[in-house]
Amino acid sequence: MSQATTALDAGHLTDEAIRSTMTNCTRGEAHRMRVPDWVHGTDPVREVVGWRDPKAPERGWLLVPLGEAVVGLALRATPGKGVRATAMCDLCRTTRSPGEVSLFVAARAGESGRKLNTVGTYACTDLACADNVRVLRATPRLKPDPGLSVSQRQEALRERAATFARKVLSTAD
Ligand SMILES: [Zn+2]
Repeated sequence: MSQATTALDAGHLTDEAIRSTMTNCTRGEAHRMRVPDWVHGTDPVREVVGWRDPKAPERGWLLVPLGEAVVGLALRATPGKGVRATAMCDLCRTTRSPGEVSLFVAARAGESGRKLNTVGTYACTDLACADNVRVLRATPRLKPDPGLSVSQRQEALRERAATFARKVLSTAD
């Protein structure tokens, strides 16, 4: 077990541990990543954690549980203000107002990422999918996946995020 995984399991999510999970960016980028304070209080072994970088508007970061490990993904939002119509997030299946869903791309890990090979997904512009699946009452701006309990939505979010993370890690095609 790596030191990073141990630190995550212990619930002490150090800055160093978060940076060491990043799989698809350079060490320099992982080093420069801004990690908001609240991220240190989360449990990314159990829950998808996402945030935008206020000082790098196109940057987004996602910590995805994969088995007992955590995979960190560097994302880039396509420029602009997001999808101009009401749209659904591919990760949490929440239907959001115009501008609140964006197309994000992740460079594939390793050699294929260096060849500018990317994987894309539509996701909540704020990457707050973990919060959005907890919303109990739909509003005109934010409609969670209907007919599911919060825990079912959380499970589905983890599965979809894991599928996305596996694509980023995949070296096939
Ligand atoms: Zn979402």
